[in-house]
Amino acid sequence: MTVTTERVCWTTSPVEPDDVLRLDTVSPRYADLADQRLALYLTAEDEAEDGRRLLPDLRLTCHTHRRWLHDCVSSPLHVNAWTRSRWCRPCEQELEVAVDHVDGRVAVSCPGCGRGAENVVDYVLITNCETSLRLARSPWPVLP
Ligand SMILES: [Zn+2]
Ligand SMILES: [Zn+2]
Repeated sequence: MTVTTERVCWTTSPVEPDDVLRLDTVSPRYADLADQRLALYLTAEDEAEDGRRLLPDLRLTCHTHRRWLHDCVSSPLHVNAWTRSRWCRPCEQELEVAVDHVDGRVAVSCPGCGRGAENVVDYVLITNCETSLRLARSPWPVLP
């Protein structure tokens, strides 16, 4: 496992490391997860979403799959024609997502027209997947 000490860039999710670190318990929904860092982030993002501070599309973790975003972004559940998440509007089909666990990069592509990331929804998804990748591999706690 690659351990990085680089500073995490919080460009989209308003959940800060402090929000996570101040939690002393995880939600019962995540209590059985082996990765308790993930359980804490899931709990913090659920709280932020319920508290009107976080849109689901900006999460770094997934409530439904109970995973880091990069681990389940390829699921059909993460395709949404309305929000354009993993969606090519001209082709009206799903974008594919490639997650490179070695260099930490994420890319989207359309099997129809061959385009890559081109709009803000695509770039937010890529940024959040790359951030969740970094968080999953970072030493704990992540310093602000
Ligand atoms: Zn998911
Ligand atoms: Zn397309």
